[in-house]
Parts: sequence; structure tokens; C-alpha cells
Amino acid sequence: MSTKKTALITGSTSGIGLGIAKNFAAKGMNIVLNGFGDAAAIEEIRSSMSKEFGVEVRYSGADMSKVEEIENMIKTAESEFGAVDVLVNNAGIQHVSPVEDFPVDKWNAIIAINLSASFHTIRMALPKMKEKGWGRIINIASAHALVASPYKSAYVAAKHGIAGLTKTVALETATFGVTMNAICPGYVWTPLVEKQVPDTAKARGITEEEVINNVMLHSQPTKKFVTIDQVAALASYLASDDAASITGSMVSIDGGWSAQ
Ligand code: NAD
Repeated sequence: MSTKKTALITGSTSGIGLGIAKNFAAKGMNIVLNGFGDAAAIEEIRSSMSKEFGVEVRYSGADMSKVEEIENMIKTAESEFGAVDVLVNNAGIQHVSPVEDFPVDKWNAIIAINLSASFHTIRMALPKMKEKGWGRIINIASAHALVASPYKSAYVAAKHGIAGLTKTVALETATFGVTMNAICPGYVWTPLVEKQVPDTAKARGITEEEVINNVMLHSQPTKKFVTIDQVAALASYLASDDAASITGSMVSIDGGWSAQ
């Protein structure tokens, strides 16, 4: 069995998750990728990451809204690598709509994928981390774990829930060498953000350009999108031994948004 650390990153076929997976692979960790997408494109990501960084890279297509698939994903990773040393709960979806029109199936999916999936990965991966006396759990929350925006009721509720989960599990694991933190990014230009521009324009009755400049970048005093590489570098620090005393924290990376 490999002596390298193993990182499992949910939702790592795109955006922030893929950026974190590449950063961790470059640091010499074995990787379990997860997420949806074109099978050939995912295989290309998997094999080129493995070749470029000389690490084992596996892929699980587990659906984070399905408890049994989550359980099997963690069990398979543990049987292949011994343990999940670094767990990054990143998979997430968004839907933008006034609360009275919010589709019930979208509410249920967002709570399942953005909140409950993290409960399931954590409860499954934690016993091995405790056994080894070392573990890192990083939840990709959001500035929306700290503040709200209109028309995102399910997302904001799920991300505030992640904040509570992060603090609670950090207290439960504090003496076991396991840390658990949440990264709270502001707007990062990824497919998830790009897709919500038309719906936000519709909900607010403004143009798509106004959504980008007057809604998204308006929230961020820097007037710049956060980059995927910046979030990945922060995750890499939280996964390191240097970050052993950081636990139960909501770490903002939001261009000053939550300082207002
Ligand atoms: P993205 O759409 O680029 O990536 C989302 C990933 O999740 C993809 O790999 C997708 O396949 C996967 N996914 C979606 N549903 C899934 C499911 N049911 N099972 C397994 N995988 C699933 O989005 P992103 O912007 O990179 O977002 C990643 C995380 O970062 C999310 O939790 C999001 O809430 C959070 N976040 C994003 C921003 C931003 O501005 N982009 C800001 C704050 C927080």
C-alpha cells in the first residue's frame, strides 16, 4: 500500500475541486477524483494528472445525493489506499429563485449535495483518520456560510449548515490529530457561477452584465473574482502540518466581502 497521503475531493471534475486536486497531486498526494462529466474527458484528466505528478489518481462517479454511493466511494478509497487522509467536501450546486417559487426538488437536491453529503463522507472517513491520529477535513463552504443574498435560500441554508457542522466536528476531533475547517470563498469564476448569471438577471430584472458588475463584483471590495488557484493554495495550507492548530474555523477568501 502507498506511503503517500491520499486526498479525496468531491466534485473535482470541474472548477474549484479540480484546482484543489491538481494542487494536491503536485504536492505528491494520491487523489480520488469525483464528480460528473464526459467519461473520456474525465479519464483524460485522471491519466494526465497521474502521469504529470507521479501519483495514483482514481475516479469515483458517486452521486453525492445518494447515501449508498457515498458510502461505497469512501469504502473503496479506503480499501485501495488504506485511508482517506485529506477529505475535501466540495461538490455543490446552485439554484436562484424567489423562495415562494423555489422548486421543492431543487431545495431537496441542494440540501442533499451541499450539506448532507458532507455529513456522510465525514462519518465514513473519520474512524480511519482517528485510528491514524492524523486527518484533515476541508469543507468548501462559501461567503454564503456567513452572510445571505436574496433568491438563494437553499444554498445559503445549506452553507450555514456546513458552518455548524464544521464547528461541531472540529470540537469532537480536536484531540485526535484531525482538523476540520471551512473555506468561505467569494465569487470564483467557474461553471457554477457562469450558469447562475441568466437566472439572477431574470430574478432581479437586470442585464447579465449588470449581474456581473453590480451584483457579484459589487459584493467584493477588490472588484475582482477570487481565482481557483488562490482557493487551492489555501486548501493546501489547511491540509499541511503547519495548520495543525487551525480547527473549527471559517476561513474567508472573498476579496473583503464579509468584512462589510
Ligand atoms: P462547478 O460547477 O465548477 O463544480 C461542481 C462540481 O461538483 C463538478 O465537478 C460537478 O460534477 C460536481 N457535482 C455536482 N453535483 C454532484 C453530485 N450530485 N455528485 C457528485 N458531484 C457533483 O462549481 P464550483 O464553482 O467549482 O463549486 C465548487 C464548490 O465551491 C461548491 O460547493 C460551491 O458551492 C463552492 N463555492 C463556489 C463559489 C464560486 O463562486 N464558484 C463560491 C463559493 C463557494
